[in-house]
Amino acid sequence: MRVDIISIFPEYFAPLDVSLIGKARHKGLLDIRLHQLRDWTHDVHRTVDDTPYGGGPGMVMKPEPWSEAIDAVAGSGGPPPRLIVPTPSGRPFTQEVALEYAKEPWLLFAPARYEGIDARVMAEYESRLRVDEVSIGDYVLAGGEAAVLVIVEAVARLLPGVLGNAGSVTDDSFAPGAMAGLLEGPVYTKPPVWRGHQVPPILLSGNHGAIARWRRDEALRRTLAKRPELVARLGPEGLDKRDREV
Ligand code: SAM
Repeated sequence: MRVDIISIFPEYFAPLDVSLIGKARHKGLLDIRLHQLRDWTHDVHRTVDDTPYGGGPGMVMKPEPWSEAIDAVAGSGGPPPRLIVPTPSGRPFTQEVALEYAKEPWLLFAPARYEGIDARVMAEYESRLRVDEVSIGDYVLAGGEAAVLVIVEAVARLLPGVLGNAGSVTDDSFAPGAMAGLLEGPVYTKPPVWRGHQVPPILLSGNHGAIARWRRDEALRRTLAKRPELVARLGPEGLDKRDREV
């Protein structure tokens, strides 16, 4: 997958060099290219913002540098990328959206600062690219860079070959696998007893069928306790007879 990020803080993306994502880049599974938005300005101050029309606090990002940058980057490959614009007013980013993005060959991110990007930029590209305005949660960050880090990490770990064990992805919370729509239950490792706390004996039994059932029961219990709305969303057809007893 190719990922391009245009930002006034390309250095913000240093974490994309470490851990899983760093390894994925190294293996050639992920081609991440960073661009400085100010390279598409034409004044001595490399200005990217201006005062808002209609008045009010803060500054708004100017359309010209963004459009020049997006034209240059989006036009530098084959079929155009999907343009992702982080904003608190966007479509909520979920595991489902991450799975959708993981199928794309090319994502282009446009993280803003200040009060956001002049709205005409999104209107302009809606007719030429697939544009997604996306929110990572109901709170306001100082800039879109942290949102891009979140989205890239969630998407990259879904790409084939990025995780050592592909099963980790299907068993995850929110994943569409065996635990569809549920939170993952508790996990344990050695030693079997630690500070008097015992690992549930079933996990040491070697009975894979019973372990799978126990895991589903625990996932259900945890989801009911912490996020009951997720269980309600599954509906009766999402639950088997034993589930309903939990
Ligand atoms: N005034 C804007 C509003 O209330 O919607 C918030 C602007 S925020 C200070 C600056 C930038 O941070 C946004 O344009 C966006 O790129 C990013 N941002 C902030 N919160 C975000 C969130 N929850 N999800 C995605 N991006 C966010």
